[in-house]
Amino acid sequence: MEKQVVIIGGGVGGLFTAALLGMEGRKVTVLERSPHIGGGLQSFSRNGVTFDAGMHVVGGLQPGGSLNRICRYLGILDQLHYRQVDADCGDEVVCFEDGMTYRIPQGREPFTKYFQQLFPEEKENIQRYVDHLFALADQVDFFFLRPGSGSAPSSDEAFYQPSAQFIARYVHNPKLRSLLAYLSPLAGGDAGYTPAYVFALINYLYINAHSRFEGPAEQLADALVSKIRELGGEVLSDTEVTAIHLEDGRVRSLTAADGRMFTPECVVSSIHPQSLLNIVDGQIFTKASRNRLATAQNNYSAFCVYAVLKEGTFPYLNHPCYCWDSYDMVWQFGKYDQENWPQNFVYFTPCERNQGPYARALQVIVFSPFSMCEQWADTTVGKRGADYEAWKSKHTDLILNKIEKSRPGFRNCVKQVYAATPLTVRDYYDQPEGSLYGLLKDSRSPFSGYLPIRTKAENLFMTGQNVYLHGCCGVPLTAVMTAEAVIGETDGIVRKM
Ligand SMILES: Cc1cc2nc3c(=O)[nH]c(=O)nc-3n(C[C@H](O)[C@H](O)[C@H](O)COP(=O)(O)OP(=O)(O)OC[C@H]3O[C@@H](n4cnc5c(N)ncnc54)[C@H](O)[C@@H]3O)c2cc1C
Repeated sequence: MEKQVVIIGGGVGGLFTAALLGMEGRKVTVLERSPHIGGGLQSFSRNGVTFDAGMHVVGGLQPGGSLNRICRYLGILDQLHYRQVDADCGDEVVCFEDGMTYRIPQGREPFTKYFQQLFPEEKENIQRYVDHLFALADQVDFFFLRPGSGSAPSSDEAFYQPSAQFIARYVHNPKLRSLLAYLSPLAGGDAGYTPAYVFALINYLYINAHSRFEGPAEQLADALVSKIRELGGEVLSDTEVTAIHLEDGRVRSLTAADGRMFTPECVVSSIHPQSLLNIVDGQIFTKASRNRLATAQNNYSAFCVYAVLKEGTFPYLNHPCYCWDSYDMVWQFGKYDQENWPQNFVYFTPCERNQGPYARALQVIVFSPFSMCEQWADTTVGKRGADYEAWKSKHTDLILNKIEKSRPGFRNCVKQVYAATPLTVRDYYDQPEGSLYGLLKDSRSPFSGYLPIRTKAENLFMTGQNVYLHGCCGVPLTAVMTAEAVIGETDGIVRKM
């Protein structure tokens, strides 16, 4: 008999979980509050150019990578268009302090050698650092889709060490320490709290090989939606779940904003757990977990700029570019210093299908705290007021000036500019405080950012970036574990991949 599963949230986690459960013969219905399906995979068009609202680099999509294996298993890999970043420069790092540009190659060996050549006096230290970094990642079974993924966390004492301390135990040169941490914003990084293993997993993904979608990232959402429908499932947009009703320790029904009612056998929540707590009418966590969740901090947000460029004026760059005012900025991604903002950011030129030598757009992400726009926290999209618009426009200008510093002549290439603030991220993704990666993963409280897949309600499960790892690779990995929990078979799906 088909068992019906309702999935709340049609973002990365919801869609992957739905497709995996569809493959297991479950009849799935995905409920998404927004008119657009995809969550972090959404794209939008301005002036004939398509921008990705979020996703710009993707780890694990290369042959053999975990995301590649999941997409292959789902039969959607062939529908995706993507390319690797440049092998000789997977990432560029520019430091304005001394005018240095670092072109960091892809791959463990080239990455190691690159830094060994720059800092020969630290040759052995760099080798030992990289070896331990990769060893930390290797201890996380679920990351590699190995059976036994639910096993106990590592006993390596570096596992939960703050990332900056982990780097410092191997290398001494302060510049080198910063350079080795350049991927920290993708890990939601902060020197004091990001556990070394989260940092190691992100480094593993992006040092090994990272990819970019050719064309919008929403192609992945489209492929997943088609797969879900092909398997007999439904994906409903404009359907916000506003209440979850419990009875006798089980979810009895769900109510949507338009009054529709759903009575599935099983429910998977792929929304932020703090939002989940607001709509459920009973106890789904232990008292300790509830208290922890109520006070849990979220990761930082971002101010994003989307520039449409004049045709044939600016080169397409096949890698992201990280810019810092000074080396000590590398762990300061969630800070807002009004006088000097932005002091660290990443920019990139979106990759199109049949991408030519010139870019049609440039996108900038300045990782910033929600507090920068706290004063407009009670406003809604399109009604934030003239003072907000002026503030937004001033900050957009500051960002464009910094890109000009990195790429002289850039401002002349710009045709039109759009911007999104942490408020935009909050309201479009429904993420508390516009957080990019959800709950903070905190080495001071190792289990703070990790929620169980199961809840106290026996037919309510969780998935998404707050359970284990965030991002386009981390969230599908969690989806595999959630789907296995729903079908009640540990390793039941992993073994088929
Ligand atoms: C600006 C930005 C840039 C990023 N860049 C990258 C990147 O380059 N690479 C990378 O790997 N990751 C990146 N990320 C992170 C990545 O987008 C997230 O980790 C990922 O989208 C999280 O997946 P999720 O399913 O948990 O949440 P989401 O993808 O956000 O999906 C949650 C969905 O639930 C819906 N929802 C919420 N409440 C309800 C409700 N009550 N009823 C119904 N639906 C509801 C939301 O509308 C949303 O669609 C970025 C994020 C942002 C914001």
